[in-house]
Amino acid sequence: MSRMSWIPSLQSRKARTEEELKREIAFRRAMENSMPTGMRVIDMEGRIEYVNSAFCRLVGMSQEELLGQTPPYSYWPTEEMEQHKRNIRMLLRGDIASLNSEVRVMHRDGRRLICRMFTSPLTDSDGTQTGWMTSVTDITEPTRIREELAKAQERFITVLQSLDAAVSVAPPEPSDELLFANEAYQKWFGQLLAPGHRVLARTSRSPWAESREVFNPNVQRWFDVRLRSIQWVDGRIVQLLVATDITLRKLAEENQRLQYQRLQQTSRLINMGEMASSLAHELNQPLAAISNYTMGAVARLRSSQAGGVSLTTDDLIEMLTKTAAQAERAGKVIQRIRGFVKRSDPVRKSVEVADIVAEAVGLAEIDARALGIRVQVDLAEALPAIHVDPILIEQVLLNLIKNGLDAMKAMPQAEANELWVHVSQPQAQTIEVAVVDRGSGVAPEIRDRLFDSFYTTKQEGMGMGLNICRSIIESHQGRLWFDDNAEGGSTFRFTIPVGSGPRTLKET
Ligand code: ADP
Repeated sequence: MSRMSWIPSLQSRKARTEEELKREIAFRRAMENSMPTGMRVIDMEGRIEYVNSAFCRLVGMSQEELLGQTPPYSYWPTEEMEQHKRNIRMLLRGDIASLNSEVRVMHRDGRRLICRMFTSPLTDSDGTQTGWMTSVTDITEPTRIREELAKAQERFITVLQSLDAAVSVAPPEPSDELLFANEAYQKWFGQLLAPGHRVLARTSRSPWAESREVFNPNVQRWFDVRLRSIQWVDGRIVQLLVATDITLRKLAEENQRLQYQRLQQTSRLINMGEMASSLAHELNQPLAAISNYTMGAVARLRSSQAGGVSLTTDDLIEMLTKTAAQAERAGKVIQRIRGFVKRSDPVRKSVEVADIVAEAVGLAEIDARALGIRVQVDLAEALPAIHVDPILIEQVLLNLIKNGLDAMKAMPQAEANELWVHVSQPQAQTIEVAVVDRGSGVAPEIRDRLFDSFYTTKQEGMGMGLNICRSIIESHQGRLWFDDNAEGGSTFRFTIPVGSGPRTLKET
């Protein structure tokens, strides 16, 4: 009985164990098959003993095709055949215990896959090595992405490096780190933070949109600087700075400014040259008068000493006063010349038009008298003061009067013996000065060239007069032009706004 009962229980246990074993095997198979990693087992001669389905999918072959293969395996691509052979040789010979390599594997359709392979010894339960187990992971896609990223990075760096602008990245102060500096930056400032990034960043706390022109004393150059806060790779907020070297442009601008200043100075000197003979005349007159008065006084004193007509103290006072007045007049002329030549910038102030006209006419009259021409002035009543550089406006008027006199020189005296200066206020905000001559008039063929620099029809002419006059008037926001007179000769006119004067001129 006991023997009878023992048999069925033994049988059922065996069946149960078999059942469990089957389940275990099925479970492991399922696990192996669902694994994305390819598995391969080779024996001590390199013969393939086992491959999982992931491995089959990887190389595009069935288990039947793969099992039993010996090296060289059919999935080794020709271009890496040697490397594969070397690896397997080292393993089989026992030169190395395990292998971790990145190799190319060939799919049945010819595609190459980049795979990471880990091969390690396979031992049985009593510790004897029976072969090698290899796991294979397809890293084609991650490798491609990595390579593309590296290429993109390379392109980005190439662009940054080939920029003429200095590009740098650094955390805000007080940090001393320079996180990135391109070649242009290194060329100017080396790998140093302080002379480059810090100096430029300190002086240009502007938002990105606004660039700022900054002089860097360390390298003695001008930069156009843009600064922006960005998030760095480690999450920190840092400053990105792009500095373009604009030294050449700055130098050109400075040169232009100096040239303009020199031109202004030159035109002043040309004006001076043109005025020189008038001023010499003007100076000669008081000097001659002083000489006359003093010589007269000396003669009268001598005759009084010799018992002739006695000279009273009052007579002497009168003569000396006249002499002093003439000396003062001469002094004023000299002062005017000095002031005119010395100043490099025009200076405006509030003045009466009548005073300017009187000064200019006074200077022109010397020439006019010599020609037998009278300069007549007609001033409108209650003219407002104007805000101008009086010496410059005086020069304009003097120039126009002298041109008028020149044009009248050759005309018959009876027709051309008066030159008129009319000052009017055609509009509330405008003063107009017209110089009306009875000269030759302006020939039609030269009308367009009159205001050109160095255009002259005169033997001794400079041809700068009208050109300079026009720029002086325009710098006062006025206009200068001319018309023909119906009765002969021409009228040169200019306007000056009554309101505020020229903005470019210095205020006194
Ligand atoms: P310049 O007096 O040295 O010749 P300007 O620029 O003052 O230089 O004048 C240029 C030219 O314009 C003169 O040479 C002359 O031919 C002409 N011109 C100027 N003003 C008059 C005028 N009032 N009447 C006729 N021609 C004139």
